[in-house]
Amino acid sequence: DKKLVVITGTSSGLGKHTTKALLQAKDYHVIGAVRDLEKMKLVAELEGFDMERFTAMELDLASFESVKKFTEELEKFRGDRPIDRLVCNAAVYQPTLAYPKWTVDGHEQQLQINYLSHFLLTSKVMPMMTDSSDARVVMIGSVTGNDNTVGGGGVYPIADLKDLDGLELGCKKPIAMMDGYNFNGAKMYKDTKLALMMTSNMLHERFHRSTGIAFSSIYPGCIAESPLFREKRPWFRKYFPIFMKYITGGFVGEEEAGTRLFQVLHDVRCTKSGVYWSWNGGPREGRGMEAMEKGGQIVGAGGAGGGWESIFENDQSDKVLNKDLVQKLWQSTNEVTGAE
Ligand code: NDP
Repeated sequence: DKKLVVITGTSSGLGKHTTKALLQAKDYHVIGAVRDLEKMKLVAELEGFDMERFTAMELDLASFESVKKFTEELEKFRGDRPIDRLVCNAAVYQPTLAYPKWTVDGHEQQLQINYLSHFLLTSKVMPMMTDSSDARVVMIGSVTGNDNTVGGGGVYPIADLKDLDGLELGCKKPIAMMDGYNFNGAKMYKDTKLALMMTSNMLHERFHRSTGIAFSSIYPGCIAESPLFREKRPWFRKYFPIFMKYITGGFVGEEEAGTRLFQVLHDVRCTKSGVYWSWNGGPREGRGMEAMEKGGQIVGAGGAGGGWESIFENDQSDKVLNKDLVQKLWQSTNEVTGAE
């Protein structure tokens, strides 16, 4: 039987490429949770998705109601099969907005789409995962949420939830930011990634032992070609990939990034919980895909996979590991989303 994988945002970028890799591996049935079913249909056709092993379902992360509807539909679809993987991948990036944009629930868009709705989604899907013999929940974090690295700590603005005063007050219009300070779109994005990484740790501590679910976060590398940067100015879009590739060496293509996320879903090493996975080095020129095509042989084969060996358990910053703040984040997010 195929393992059931739920991924948010399979109609673009990392989610799309990860889905391609999963469909090629043949062990999985992917449920693509997307806001635009028409776009998904088109993308699936263009990319040649095997529709026997792919099901698109509507999920608009800008609405808690939509999250609830999605999980009801998922419950029906799975019947008595467990969900084996949940990937919180979808995101928006709005670094240049002068004013926040709000969702129907009255939260700043990046906050709800990237973080709050994924929190609610995870709380609703986790009970469907407990019967799986290999359940994994993966949060797509970012180096920008982990400030002990150059990309995270050296580039202004820095992710910082401070005392979470904004979230404690409900983080509803006109309060955009979790720290309660003035709106800053670039910081908001980073804050949501920091919050996702903290949530992954919290879930690990609270639920790994009792449920067996492995919780992790990943930084797939900077996917400089990604449409995620569509809201940046044209000059930035033009030169940023070149900069990343030649100056910092941190650039990865979308396909490579997809292979990395696929690894975290497929590789037996990645059944380990409480980890922030990262990869050494730049692009691997398709070696990852080659390894993947060999399927099971590569898993845990130690070296045979080439690119697969560049995965490592990355350090997490003091902010991500701050236990008091994690506790506060947990409590406030439960209240704001009504998850508990
Ligand atoms: P894309 O913009 O290509 O993909 C984002 C996906 O999120 C799209 O499929 C989009 O749907 C979906 N989405 C946006 N809003 C909603 C919503 N309201 N409801 C449901 N789905 C929504 O970006 P990437 O693939 O690059 O980003 C994927 C993940 O990787 C994100 O979490 C991002 O933060 C992370 N990341 C990206 C890095 C990069 O360098 N690009 C670096 C580190 C992390 P649609 O197709 O309809 O637009």
